[in-house]
Amino acid sequence: MSNLIRLIYVSRANFKLAQDATGIEPTVARILMQSRKNNPKQRIGGVLYFGDGCFFQCLEGQADVVNALIAKIMRDERHSNVQILKLIPISERAFNNWSMKYIPLESDVSALLKKHKMDSFNPYLFKDELIDDLVDLFLHLSSPESKPDQNYIDRIDKKPSLWQKFTSLFGAGR
Ligand code: FAD
Repeated sequence: MSNLIRLIYVSRANFKLAQDATGIEPTVARILMQSRKNNPKQRIGGVLYFGDGCFFQCLEGQADVVNALIAKIMRDERHSNVQILKLIPISERAFNNWSMKYIPLESDVSALLKKHKMDSFNPYLFKDELIDDLVDLFLHLSSPESKPDQNYIDRIDKKPSLWQKFTSLFGAGR
């Protein structure tokens, strides 16, 4: 049976931002690569935004695998002050096409913040309405760094994958 959840958290980067980065910040790029390698195996999808030294990430998937991933993410020394903003059951995925969509610094985000009377990206102060608006914006923004790479459909969430059967028998490793 489907036990899908959406988990949204924020955190603060612990690394020094690369000064001369022309595109995506190198540490963020490594995190993104890691996510895109790992998440499909766990049928996890979502979106990652990095702005003003803060991460905002939305993870969607089966409750047990999302909980295992967030436990791993919380131990990651590349960031700290992890704060969960939202953890809700969902009947279907919003990010069913992305193992991890990435949204670079965006003028549309600034416009949304302004609309909510905020002048910087400080997700620790976000109210529920802004969180929902942001997820909706991230869902619809197209991003040159991100192309849909998944095709999760709700049907597949209702039966265990081969990987889930395997991990329930032998464990997920690290
Ligand atoms: P490993 O095989 O352990 O590592 C692969 C490589 O990544 C290593 O060679 C090393 O260079 C580098 N690395 C791993 N861990 C660290 C670390 N703590 N510090 C510095 N370098 C490291 N992982 C996901 O699988 N999915 C996600 O959606 C996801 N989102 C993240 C969001 C944020 C903001 C952060 C900070 C991390 C996120 N991670 C995510 C990474 C996660 O915390 C783990 O590092 C990762 O899942 C370990 O994967 P692995 O066991 O395959 O990597």
